[in-house]
Amino acid sequence: MSMKLVLASNNAKKLVELQALFAPLGIELVTQGSLGIAEAEEPFETFAENALAKARHAARASGLPALADDSGLSVDALGGAPGVRSARYALDAGGEKGDAANNERLLRELAGVDDAQDRGARFVCALVAVRSAADPEPLVAMGRWSGRILTTPRGTGGFGYDPLMFIPPLCRAVAELGPVEKNIHSHRALAAGELVRQMREVWKLG
Ligand code: IMP
Repeated sequence: MSMKLVLASNNAKKLVELQALFAPLGIELVTQGSLGIAEAEEPFETFAENALAKARHAARASGLPALADDSGLSVDALGGAPGVRSARYALDAGGEKGDAANNERLLRELAGVDDAQDRGARFVCALVAVRSAADPEPLVAMGRWSGRILTTPRGTGGFGYDPLMFIPPLCRAVAELGPVEKNIHSHRALAAGELVRQMREVWKLG
């Protein structure tokens, strides 16, 4: 029998990536939105803390084990911004919500930074899984993916900042990778691989 896990996110693109990444365990991911659960607050300064808060919230509201992803982009020249504010980067500057506005703000903030070496950045992903809201032993995994920020967008795949993130060893922007290839290399893939290992060891899954 497959285990049901509530995903503490309503981001459809994240769901697709995570579903593929957790397929080896035969886990069924259901979004909290489909269960009528509202989004949790994300008040913390770190990805790990926000992911833990989201996972607990989903477990408490559903009575089921829960998985949360908190992720974003950390740009060296911006002191780690947009960081945990990645989804709301343009909104925070009085702009609109959404990927297009976020990408435009990022290009504006980096306008004076010309040398490719100075445009270094990392995608960061924290994944947290809990068996219940009171689980004293949450499973926590981090993944990082380094690249640099382009001066113009490239590609149409993925979501978020993918068109602006160039990965030197692959010679392509993330939005130019297919879904299978992104799921081999990404920050989310690295974190998921580690979490799957922990779920096998601690939760005795698959
Ligand atoms: P969260 O849903 O609060 O974790 O916010 C995640 C935000 O980080 C997204 O809205 C994107 O802007 C960004 N992000 C996270 N993962 C990715 C990715 O794989 N590609 C591009 N952007 C991402």
